[in-house]
Amino acid sequence: MKRQPLLPLCVLIAGFCVFSSVQAADPLPKVTILATGGTIAGSGGSSTQLTGYKPGDLTAEQLIAAVPGLKDFAEVSAEQIANIGSYDMTGEIWLKLARRINTLLAGNTDGVVVTHGTDTQEETVYFLNLTVKSKKPVVTVGAMRPATAISADGPLNLLQAVSVAGSKNARGHGALLVMNSQINGAREVTKTNTLQPETFRSNDFGLLGYVVNNKPVFYRDSLRKHTQDTEFDISKIDKLPKVEILYTYVDAGDEALNAMIAAKPAGIVVAGMGNGSLYTPQRKLLEEAVKKGIVVVRSSRTGTGPTTRVAADDAAGFVVSDTLNAQKARVLLMLALTKTKDIKEIQRMFETY
Ligand code: ASP
Repeated sequence: MKRQPLLPLCVLIAGFCVFSSVQAADPLPKVTILATGGTIAGSGGSSTQLTGYKPGDLTAEQLIAAVPGLKDFAEVSAEQIANIGSYDMTGEIWLKLARRINTLLAGNTDGVVVTHGTDTQEETVYFLNLTVKSKKPVVTVGAMRPATAISADGPLNLLQAVSVAGSKNARGHGALLVMNSQINGAREVTKTNTLQPETFRSNDFGLLGYVVNNKPVFYRDSLRKHTQDTEFDISKIDKLPKVEILYTYVDAGDEALNAMIAAKPAGIVVAGMGNGSLYTPQRKLLEEAVKKGIVVVRSSRTGTGPTTRVAADDAAGFVVSDTLNAQKARVLLMLALTKTKDIKEIQRMFETY
């Protein structure tokens, strides 16, 4: 009997295996990194310099080049939106960032990562939470040690942020802040420590999930509205209303508040004492400010807990911030003021977002 040649059979089997493995592998998600600077892009004079370095020194391309493993998690592209320490973040950059994210996510981008300094990251992530109109993931990320430092935390944080941004599991949770393998929600997260890598906490509310083996695992969600469910549209706004923050303390002088009111901001958020309590001389000036058309929001300097409405708020025409700290209340008030000056409406927004 004539033996059948084995070669064509092997070729057929090998071909089938290659074909089926190509079929099985999902294409990598498309993730765009929008770089804004910060310590994650910072450089110091030596590997032991951990403070006093220059934030916002490396470019987006250099950040990506430092993490070769990124290519296994996503098809990554990058754009430089700014290159600053986040203490220099502006409303103008926020608007540019939010618009760019909306354009990218309306197209074939699966997720966006924003590299950002940690100092004001909680404000930026909340701004994006209120202005991005997509369920696709938007993740902000930073570092507490500059890229040049021994045990720099930026590269792993960036890898994890990209893996979250590329994951379908991360859709619909609002804007997220990913650092130290922790996923925090935009509304609650706040910077709690000046130097430690694990600086971001959601305090009373807790984090939303962990990044485990470079995959997001979620345990909870915020019930407050966000992203495509908000009423804010920044597509036609080129400047945010001016809102200032007033800090309260024992025996505060009138000078700073008088100057603030004279500059006619659209709103003032007060970091009050306890449940947003106000020093009586300041309260009187703020009541006058309301009569001049300035929207005043009472918040608290304590760091946790709601600032609640009391009868005197109705009489004075004040709004209360609920659990938002002063800097986040300012973000929401700026956006609220793009829609209305009506106190009841603004209070409703503070109970909604
Ligand atoms: N220390 C800051 C950071 O972590 C500087 C900044 O916020 O840009 O990035």
